[in-house]
This record gives sequence, structure tokens and C-alpha cells, in this order.
Amino acid sequence: MRILVAEDEPETAQFVANGLQEHGHNVLVARTGTDALHLGLTETIDLVILDRMLPGLDGMTVLRRLRAGEVRAPAIMLTALGRIEDRIEGLDAGADDYLTKPFAFGELLARVNALARRAAPQDVVTRLIAGPVEMDLLRREVRRDGLPVLLQPREFRVLEELMRHPGEFVTRTMLLERVWDFHFDPQTKIVETHMSRLRSKLNEGGRTDVIETVRGVGYRIRAA
Ligand code: CA
Repeated sequence: MRILVAEDEPETAQFVANGLQEHGHNVLVARTGTDALHLGLTETIDLVILDRMLPGLDGMTVLRRLRAGEVRAPAIMLTALGRIEDRIEGLDAGADDYLTKPFAFGELLARVNALARRAAPQDVVTRLIAGPVEMDLLRREVRRDGLPVLLQPREFRVLEELMRHPGEFVTRTMLLERVWDFHFDPQTKIVETHMSRLRSKLNEGGRTDVIETVRGVGYRIRAA
């Protein structure tokens, strides 16, 4: 597994990294919260071991931001604070397990292995369903009422974003960022144009519109 270890104390970082490497893992070490967040968001990571107290951003904030960035790798929080509130806060932030310092390496390894078993095989979503619409993400196929709908790649991505959050509003800004990778508003009708084409293809033959638009809010696909 590729494991991100975020720990500012050099000795602990070394001890954890060496131990994991000896057990065949590939380890990336971050010494600050900022580096941990950057690595977590840019590298493919299978598991995160995160110290609670880190310079830059604290472990809890790093984890929240990773989760907000759709990083779902299991996380173990390390802490010198064994208080129940910290444990709850860590779990709330998206940690899967918690370990109080000092700990024996064997204890950490047992938790790493337990999370690895739970995470594998990665439950990657390959099929999305919302009401009469079905998407096969591997075959890149879309069906409405069982009939194929042919979409252009960007239309497919727009629909995928809606279908990943059935019943929830997806804003124009979210679509610009996720589908076009625009981190600014290009002041074009790009979203509207694609949405309109997507709709006419999905609703061909005068079928009920499966996408709902609320001005100033965004778009959503009806869940059922
Ligand atoms: Ca620390």
C-alpha cells in the first residue's frame, strides 16, 4: 500500500516509516499539515496516518479538507491526547481509527492491516442510478428507461456529477470546477449549453425532464 504519514516529530516519523517499509509498504512522509494536505490531494494514497498536532494545519483540519476533496483513503489519527472528546472529534473529521501516543509499532501495524482489509477491494462505484437514468462508468454508457442515450464526453461528465449526488443541487461553479477544471468563472454559457444538450438527449420524445433547475441555486437530478 501507498501510505501517507504526516508527523512532525522526526523520530516518530522515522520509526513509523521504517516499520511500514519493512512490511512492504510505500511510505510518503509529510512534516507539516500543509505538506500532508498537498500530498494527500495530489498523490494516490491508500491510507493516511495523521498526527493530531502538526505545524501549519493541524491533523483534524487536514483530514477534513482531504475528505472535502473526496479523498476517501482510510485514516488513522495519532494523538498524545487521549481524551474522549478528541477521539470523537477525530472520528467526526473522518478518521477511521485512532491511536494514542506512545504506541507500539505492532499496534499501529495491526490497525493498518485491519483498515487495509476493510478497504479492499476498493468499492469503486461503476454504476450510477437515478430514477429512470442509469450510467455505466466503465463502459461509458447511459440509458434512460433502458434505452441508450449517446452523450459527448463533457455531457457525460456533467451527468455523472449530477448522478453522484442524486437529489442534491450541484451548482454551476461546482460543474465548472469539476468538469472543466475552471477555478474562475469564464463568463460563458458553457454550462448552460451543455446542460441544454444533455437535457434534450435525456428527455428525447417529450419524456419528463429528469433534471431540475433552480435559478441561482443549481441543477439536480431527481432521485426517483
Ligand atoms: Ca506532532
